[in-house]
Amino acid sequence: MKKALEQLQPYLDKVFSLLSAKTLFEWDSQTLAPSGSQDATTQIIGTLSDEYQKVFLDKDVQACYEKCKEEMEQGMYSLNERGVIKVFGKRLEELTKIPPQEFREYNELASRSGIAWVKAKEDNNFDAFAPFLEKIIDFKKRFASYRAKDGEELYDVLLNDYEEGFGMKELDLFFADVKNVIIPLLKKVTKETSTIDKSYNEQTYSIEKQREFCDFLATYIGLPKEYCVISESAHPFTLALHNKDVRITDHYYENNLESAMFSMIHEGGHALYELGVHDDITLTLAGGGASMGMHESQSRFYENNICKNSAFWQPIYQKLVSTYPEQLSSLAFDDFIRGINKATADYVRTEADELSYSLHILVRYEVEKMIFTEDISVSDLPRIWNEKYEEYLGITPPTDTLGILQDTHWSWGEFGYFPSYAIGSAVAAQIYAHMQKVLPMEDLLLEGKLSVIRDYLKEHVHQYGQTKTTNEMLMDMMGESFSPKYYMEYLKNKYEVLYHIST
Ligand code: ZN
Repeated sequence: MKKALEQLQPYLDKVFSLLSAKTLFEWDSQTLAPSGSQDATTQIIGTLSDEYQKVFLDKDVQACYEKCKEEMEQGMYSLNERGVIKVFGKRLEELTKIPPQEFREYNELASRSGIAWVKAKEDNNFDAFAPFLEKIIDFKKRFASYRAKDGEELYDVLLNDYEEGFGMKELDLFFADVKNVIIPLLKKVTKETSTIDKSYNEQTYSIEKQREFCDFLATYIGLPKEYCVISESAHPFTLALHNKDVRITDHYYENNLESAMFSMIHEGGHALYELGVHDDITLTLAGGGASMGMHESQSRFYENNICKNSAFWQPIYQKLVSTYPEQLSSLAFDDFIRGINKATADYVRTEADELSYSLHILVRYEVEKMIFTEDISVSDLPRIWNEKYEEYLGITPPTDTLGILQDTHWSWGEFGYFPSYAIGSAVAAQIYAHMQKVLPMEDLLLEGKLSVIRDYLKEHVHQYGQTKTTNEMLMDMMGESFSPKYYMEYLKNKYEVLYHIST
């Protein structure tokens, strides 16, 4: 008898439906909604959010959840059911430990802060944004203190929100490897790649043809049109309602061939994850990706490990050239592969190459750690940021727009989020190393058999949604939990081969 979960079910259905409605509005506001609709729509979303919160604040619902937890401890539930109860519990904890009045004040502040950040970034004016950032940090510290267990560090509370089991202890070890391996490797690679001619990328490419080719890429990696739509937005992203309705966007620039292609593949990796969630859990709270890090691992797996690989391009390079004969017919295949893998230290995270990317995250991790574990002043942050860029990437941002103001995350209070990008790259490399052992990866890519790769990921990662953690999935797949060594080896091997350097 599963009485408690059966009693909780109507509330779970309600919470899921309210979330779906919010997701749909989010998609709409970034793609097709008329710009004048924002104020009225915000009111509707506010009502949906209130209704969502009410479910969790209902004493009967809370009692029912406690009963579910007891029954779960008695071993009464399956993996899927445990996943749903666990996710519900997490949301309940977030929403009940923070006083509603403070939560509302915080949400209003975050919304104003987001707007202030856009303007401050445009004007290169950190001082205009600093008072908002200071208040956001105060709120985040207070909220984390409400939720911290005995002796738990505030920053660990935030980190765990995005990636369970990856606190400062684990991340310090991971980022020590990032420092020791990637910093010297990037220096060597940059020397070799500084002369690589990437001018092919900045020629004029018709948007219409880019759409056509990206559409081909989406089909090539296996995105089914009946379950996945592609639209356009300022910044590419992926949203999912369930495993039969996944939506991605791309952005096309006339003078940039690679941007839209690799964004399509990146978002395609996210989409394949959502499409692969098992039917039994797709319409539940446990239906999405396991964590931010695991989600990023899937997008980066496709974007970097697969799509920056010469074996991926061999069967389709001629198609790319015949799509743009004027621009590419004189470009040798090897030069294209070296071009798409060119590595260089630069200021902006979102435009960073595969090798330097994690150094951008290293800077953010160390700055966030200082904010939450040391008493540093917000006015010192631009200086600290710039010093770390100089130390790790050898460059000092000329403006705060290209420095500390470049990312939106902090303006919305998303502290602890950044490390999941680097964890994602490392998990992708670990999965890739394992798949090379159990599958003929090179041959599959050369023969264009992407479905074998897709099916493997579906079986070992995608289908589980949030019912397993990142470490549980890695352990079950390869008998080993997270280990950064695969990422470091992958990068060293890759660049050694590409540029004939010794590492
Ligand atoms: Zn992503």
